[in-house]
Amino acid sequence: MILANAPSLADIIAAPKVLLHDHLDGGLRPETVIELADRYGYELPFATADQASEWFFCGGDDIGNLPLYLEKFRHTIGVMQHADALHQVAKECAEDGFPPQRHLEAFQYLQRENFHFTIHAGEGFGPRSIWKALQWCGAERLGHGYRIIEDIQFNDGDEARLGSLAQYMVDRRIPLEVCPTSNVHTEGAASSAEHPIGMLAALGFRVTVNTDNRLMSRCSMSSEFHALVTHQGWTMDDITAASINAAKSAFLSYDERNNLIDHILTSSS
Ligand SMILES: [Zn+2]
Repeated sequence: MILANAPSLADIIAAPKVLLHDHLDGGLRPETVIELADRYGYELPFATADQASEWFFCGGDDIGNLPLYLEKFRHTIGVMQHADALHQVAKECAEDGFPPQRHLEAFQYLQRENFHFTIHAGEGFGPRSIWKALQWCGAERLGHGYRIIEDIQFNDGDEARLGSLAQYMVDRRIPLEVCPTSNVHTEGAASSAEHPIGMLAALGFRVTVNTDNRLMSRCSMSSEFHALVTHQGWTMDDITAASINAAKSAFLSYDERNNLIDHILTSSS
């Protein structure tokens, strides 16, 4: 289903992209894992960067093995237990967001302090987790969120009827930080082709594309977009739209977001 004028990987690499959802402990370079373990005497079940890269990869036979997936983080977190290690990893890497309603007081505190935050929801659990994240905790964005598809009914002839939460999310422009490859690796979606991201975008949700855990999923922003071109027929316009959605949803000042959007539009015209 690749279109005739589909963007190439080189086109995608050249296009500006905005990443909202990428875990610090899921994005270490394999070399850095080895380097930090050596420096702090942390024991690892592998010795070289190549072996580390193999060990952390969650594709292939490891797909759907959630305990194993989480076991991998034990070692990325294990080597990050010193301030300068954390600093190094942060410098080499990205941002984070964390769980639910158990931390209601903390989230209410953040709201009172005019703080921006995102919450993982609609990944391991369905629409109810999304409802809690938005309506109880006050999340501005959703980490993943793609299981809102379960609040949508598809009738014959593909007509979609949105439930009240799904409609609220479209109307309020709630950003979804979707991480397609990661969702396939944790079996949230059967395959890249069957991931609901394209359907959600078509229904008007504010969809963004993200990497989640680059070490475990061996992905980049370019490879994620390329997979959507290959498996869901995305065009360069779809990629630009997702990048603009991400720029609109970034926790930056209004001016900074406008500049980012201008930059994306100038580069894509
Ligand atoms: Zn995540």
